[in-house]
Amino acid sequence: MTEPHTNSQAGPRSEYLYKEALQHIVGGVNSPSRSFKAVGGGAPIFMKRGQGAYFWDEDGKKYIDYLAAYGPIILGHAHPHVTAAICRAAENGTLFGAPTELEITFAQMLKAAIPSLDKVRFVNSGTEAVMTTIRVARAFTGRSKIIKFAGCYHGHSDLVLVAAGSGPSTLGIPDSAGVPPSIASEVITVPYNDIEALKEALDRWGDEIAAVMIEPIVGNFGMVMPIPGYLEQLCAATRSNGSLVIYDEVITAFRFHYGSAQTFDGLQAASLSAIEPDLTALGKIIGGGLPIGAYGGRKEIMEQVAPLGPAYQAGTMAGNPASISAGIACLEALQEPGLYDRLNALAASLEAGLAQAARKHGIALTINRIRGSLSTHFCDHPVSNYDEAQDTDGEQFARFFRLMLEQGICLAPSKYEAWFMTAAHTETDITATIAAAEHAFAVMAA
Ligand code: PLP
Repeated sequence: MTEPHTNSQAGPRSEYLYKEALQHIVGGVNSPSRSFKAVGGGAPIFMKRGQGAYFWDEDGKKYIDYLAAYGPIILGHAHPHVTAAICRAAENGTLFGAPTELEITFAQMLKAAIPSLDKVRFVNSGTEAVMTTIRVARAFTGRSKIIKFAGCYHGHSDLVLVAAGSGPSTLGIPDSAGVPPSIASEVITVPYNDIEALKEALDRWGDEIAAVMIEPIVGNFGMVMPIPGYLEQLCAATRSNGSLVIYDEVITAFRFHYGSAQTFDGLQAASLSAIEPDLTALGKIIGGGLPIGAYGGRKEIMEQVAPLGPAYQAGTMAGNPASISAGIACLEALQEPGLYDRLNALAASLEAGLAQAARKHGIALTINRIRGSLSTHFCDHPVSNYDEAQDTDGEQFARFFRLMLEQGICLAPSKYEAWFMTAAHTETDITATIAAAEHAFAVMAA
């Protein structure tokens, strides 16, 4: 079945490739978030190559990229240090089915940046990392239920596909088909930033709760900060219930500074130990653009994992030298002095310019910015939980998305997804983006 090609910004070659893709790949895309279903449908833009802050589509059109591949490409496309590391790894053999020294080096780097990781294990995606933290938490506690937060996305494993945020919400699939009710009944969903709702759930299900799984800073219904004191109270309430705290830092680790959300001073936590999780899931940035995930945490919990303990988790591709080399190179490059301040300054300029342009044209726009990432919500109220993120104008976002794309500015095709600054963006890119947004708002207001 071919989808309607409405109001498409795709050039003739993207249109052609989309028709071809639909014949062979389900929905024409290998991840539903890449489809344009939520922004009016039609062919997505097929990309040919990327360099720095830009990519070029199959029709030769250039775009400024704020998608950053949904987060991993924080250094920009084809960063020379990362590319060289991948080439070296490929020349030396991409997979051995045996351990390598590289994995130790990378584990040491992660542990140095995220002190709550006594031990880590590498996997192939954020989904795998999250899925396994849940298994390990269940093995450690002997309990089976988890609590998660409405609108937080934790990958596509069965348990966490309940009220699952950006991807599923964008496509209007709050709860996936194919997840048996018996599994869904193991998950309790509460609103983010509402400590009383969490406490009530902990009281009600008490010693059935293995873990509370949270994005400590949300990246999946826009960028949303925890309200002051929230994570401290969440950790305290969860621990006093004998449950584990799991942070899903697949988006947030190495996003705001060289480290993770749990060590980010922007959280203004009274003490880092008060918000330290028992387990952490990682992905995206730590693979430098290649497939990766990792999970880790307290030694005695991680020792549940095979071969030391009874919780089984394995992977033919896990810890492959190409992904690990790309990850090491990415983290090395991220240590450049001033890099995160530059991302912050660029995003601050962008935020100010977007806000001013929206005001000028009478467009109601809420911008949530956290350092070098931001989200734009077409509404006139704050967005601090999933309900508020849903209560925004998706049609207006779709128009904005298309008007920006037309002018060579690439955002994620979803009102829930963030804009990510990369180390390759410049003030010139920001100026061009603000000018494009001003035009878009003028058209929308007309
Ligand atoms: N956790 C979070 C917070 C995510 O945003 C994502 C993906 O967007 C995942 C987990 C799943 O990661 P992956 O797509 O690598 O499986």
